[in-house]
Amino acid sequence: MSASLDDLPIRDDLRGKTPYGAPQAPLPVALNVNENTHPVPEEVADDILDGIAHALRDINRYPDREFTALREGFADYLGHGLQPDQIWAANGSNEVLQHILQAFAGPGRTAFGFDPTYSMYPLLTSATGARYIGGMRGDDFSLTAADAAEQIDAAQPDVVFLCSPNNPTGTPLSLDVIEAVYDASHGIVIVDEAYGEFAPRDEPSALTLLHGRERLVVSRTMSKAFAFAGARVGYLAADPALIDALRLVRLPYHLSALTQAAAIAALRHAPVMLSMVDDIVAQRDRISATLSALGYTPYESWSNFVLFGGVDDPKATWQGLYDQGVLIRDVGLPHTLRVTAGSEQESTAFLEALASL
Ligand code: PMP
Repeated sequence: MSASLDDLPIRDDLRGKTPYGAPQAPLPVALNVNENTHPVPEEVADDILDGIAHALRDINRYPDREFTALREGFADYLGHGLQPDQIWAANGSNEVLQHILQAFAGPGRTAFGFDPTYSMYPLLTSATGARYIGGMRGDDFSLTAADAAEQIDAAQPDVVFLCSPNNPTGTPLSLDVIEAVYDASHGIVIVDEAYGEFAPRDEPSALTLLHGRERLVVSRTMSKAFAFAGARVGYLAADPALIDALRLVRLPYHLSALTQAAAIAALRHAPVMLSMVDDIVAQRDRISATLSALGYTPYESWSNFVLFGGVDDPKATWQGLYDQGVLIRDVGLPHTLRVTAGSEQESTAFLEALASL
């Protein structure tokens, strides 16, 4: 007989918790975890392989602990005059966020998110022993500067998560909200721009606010726009002092030489890697328009997915799509489902399956 979790001397604050668990089912059309469904272009894949092959020759040695070349690559890619000493990276932006929480949250401290938001924020927070505080959004999931600042002023959290655009709702976040939240708080303010590349091109990133704000962090990932989810590479930009704090909590050599080599090669081809973004945005907008025509109520999205309401029975609709080989996500919001914008074919498969239900 095998033991259950309850039989183990696990930390009290982890008892009864459930792990992150988006279903991973081998269905032909997987539009459930906001991946980029387009594979890495062949010409880039070859260059990445060369980079990895080169790194393999020195794999008996520990990697560059400071991932210097990779930080230069991210600083170049982000622009805005950012320097490599303002860049940090880790195995996915989940680990980047974990590093921030390890340094600035922890036992006796709090982290704050405006719910509904990315489901990992509470899990990452409690894993560091801190307490998560869930704030509120308007009916359409938007946030105003005055309301957001009031909530932060009342809670005075040590860390604030601002997801821009927000997952799972796709909601844009304007810079005035970020500025107001920053001014109302004494803690670290993280703007999670995991889906930033899918926002309209002429909309400014929170990177434009970094100068003179030493508690502000902008986190990004290669998992979405870059079609690099399997490589696990996330990064952030912030004041060099904040980067120094993250060095205190990271494991030595946390980014493998293979990961660094792959990411450096991919970044060299950023325009090609990002070439599918316009296509995905077009599919997102087509999905929203078709959902409206089918009588559903899609929420405004600046990301690579669409949350839609007007679903009488989300579990039944989810299952109906599943049975037709289409995997989407029930994020637990009443009468809604969330779908990732895939290729034209995948998006069509989803829309036709939904229309047939
Ligand atoms: N932030 C947000 C808002 C996300 O949706 C995700 C992934 N779904 C992440 C961070 C983490 O992504 P990764 O660890 O792959 O960089």
